[in-house]
Amino acid sequence: MEDVYDVIVVGGGNAALCAALSAKETVPRVLALERAPEEAAGGNSRFTAGLMRIAYAGVEDLAQLIDLSAEEIQQTDFGSYKAEQFLDDVARVTEYRCDPDLTEILVRQSFATAQWMKKKGVRFTAAWGRQAFKIGGRFKFWGGLTLEVVGGGPGLVDSLTTAARKNDITIWYKARATSLIADDEGVHGVVVKHGGRTTQVRARAVVLAAGGFQANAEWRARYLGPGWELAKVRGTRFNTGDAIRMALDIGAAPAGNWSGCHAVAWERNAPEFGDLAVGDQFQKHSYPWGIYINAEGRRFVDEGADFRNYTYAKYGRVILNQPGQFAWQIFDAKVKNQLRDEYRIRQVTKVTASSLEELVRKLDDVDADAALKEIKAYNAAVRTEIPFNPNIKDGRCTESLAINKSNWANTIDTPPFEAYAVTCGITFTFGGLRIDTGAQVISTDGEQIPGLYAAGELVGGIFWFNYPGGSGLTNGAVFGRIAGANAARMTSQRS
Ligand SMILES: Cc1cc2nc3c(=O)[nH]c(=O)nc-3n(C[C@H](O)[C@H](O)[C@H](O)COP(=O)(O)OP(=O)(O)OC[C@H]3O[C@@H](n4cnc5c(N)ncnc54)[C@H](O)[C@@H]3O)c2cc1C
Repeated sequence: MEDVYDVIVVGGGNAALCAALSAKETVPRVLALERAPEEAAGGNSRFTAGLMRIAYAGVEDLAQLIDLSAEEIQQTDFGSYKAEQFLDDVARVTEYRCDPDLTEILVRQSFATAQWMKKKGVRFTAAWGRQAFKIGGRFKFWGGLTLEVVGGGPGLVDSLTTAARKNDITIWYKARATSLIADDEGVHGVVVKHGGRTTQVRARAVVLAAGGFQANAEWRARYLGPGWELAKVRGTRFNTGDAIRMALDIGAAPAGNWSGCHAVAWERNAPEFGDLAVGDQFQKHSYPWGIYINAEGRRFVDEGADFRNYTYAKYGRVILNQPGQFAWQIFDAKVKNQLRDEYRIRQVTKVTASSLEELVRKLDDVDADAALKEIKAYNAAVRTEIPFNPNIKDGRCTESLAINKSNWANTIDTPPFEAYAVTCGITFTFGGLRIDTGAQVISTDGEQIPGLYAAGELVGGIFWFNYPGGSGLTNGAVFGRIAGANAARMTSQRS
C-alpha cells in the first residue's frame, strides 16, 4: 500500500493535466497516473492540432490570449463567436440532444478556461493556416474556430506537463489504473499496475480522465455496431475504456450516445492506431471542394452540406458504411491550391490523371464505368451560374441528382485530376459516464458518488451524432478544471 494522496487523476491528456493543475491550487498531494510510457504520453490530446473552440466577443478578447501585433490585427478579420452561437452550434449538430446544463458550462466557461490555461503556461496563436481564408489581402476567420495552441497537441501536452512538474504534481508513466477502491462511503483510491507491478494507491478523491473506448475494437463492435472493428484509430492506442469500466463496476451511471462517435475521412492505408510522427495529417478534410466516389462508382453524401467543421465528424461513419469501407475524394486543378496541407504529406494514397477516363481507371477497387458516368452526371447538374465562394455557404449546388451537393459544387473538368483514397478514422467515442455540473460522477441511483469526478472524452451527454470541431480540447479543459477544483475542495471532508 502506497501513501495517501489528496487527489489522484487517472490519465495524462489535456483533461487530466488540467484537473491535476486545478486540484493543486488547493491541495498539496496530487498524483497523475498515465498508462502510456513518457514518450507516448498525452493521449489523444497530443495528436491534435491544438484547435480550441471558445466563445469570444471580438479581437479584444483574443488579444487577451494571443500576442497579436498591430499589423496582424490590421490584416485580419477575426469576427466574433458569441456564446449564443457556440450554444446554437452544439445544439444543432447534436440534434438538440446535448445536455443543456453541461453544454452551458462548456460554452460559458470556455473563454475563462483558456485564460486560466494561459496563466498555467499554455501559449496560444490564431489558426491562420487552417481556419482563415485571404480575401482582398485580408485574412477572414470562419466557422467560429480561431484559437490554436502554439505547437499544436504536442505543444499543449508539453506545456501542461511542464506546469505540472513546476507545481510538484507527481506523474507516474506506464501506470495503468485497473479498478477503483470503493465502498459504501464512496471512492478511496485506485488499483494501478505501475511498471508491471500492481499496487493500491489511496486518495481522498479521484478524477477519471482516461479517454473514451475508441481504441478497443471489441467495445467498438459491441457499442457502435457491426463493422466498427474495421475502422482505424486516429489517436492513441491507450484509450480502451478502462476508466469507464472501472466506474460502471462500482455503480456509476452510463450517459450519452453510446452508439455514437466522432469519425472522419482518414488515409485508407494508415496504420491501425495513430502515429505521432504524422499526427492528424492522415485526415482528409477538403472534401467540400470536390466529390466522393465509392467502390460502386457512386456519390453517397452531400459533400457541401455545411462548413467542413460541422460535417467532418459524422462523415467517417458514412464512409465506413460504403462497400469495402473506403471512398475516393476527387478534385480538379481549379481547387488544387485550396487543398489543406494534409494532402501534401508523403503518406497518401493518391492518383493523378490528365483525363477523367484515365482517372477512373486508376481508382483502385472502383467500378470505373459507373464512376465516369457519375462524374459526368454530376458535372452536368452543377448550377455554374452561381458564383463559387469558399468563405460562405455559397449555394452553388447541383440539381436533380439522387444526392445533391448543396454548396461549393465545382465541376470536375479541368486537368490534372487528383484522387485520394480514404477510409473511416475514429477519433473518440461519445458514450461515457454521467456527471453533474460539478463534474462529480452520478450513480445509477441518481446520486453523487462521493470522491469520484470525471472529465473529458469519457463523459457522456454533451456530444451526440456529431460535434463542432475544436470542442474536444475545450471540453476536457473546462471540465478538467472543474473536476480538479471540486475534488480538491471536498478532500477536507473525507479522510
Ligand atoms: C488526430 C486527432 C486530432 C484531433 N484534433 C482536435 C483538435 O484540433 N481540437 C480538439 O478540440 N479536439 C481534437 N481532437 C479530439 C481531442 O483529442 C479529444 O477530444 C481530447 O484530446 C480528449 O482529451 P482527454 O484528456 O479526455 O483524453 P486524452 O487526451 O486521450 O487522454 C486520455 C489519457 O488517459 C490515459 N489512459 C487511458 N487509460 C488509462 C488507464 N487505465 N490508466 C491511466 N491512464 C490511462 C491515456 O494514456 C491518455 O493519456 C482530435 C483527436 C485526434 C485523435
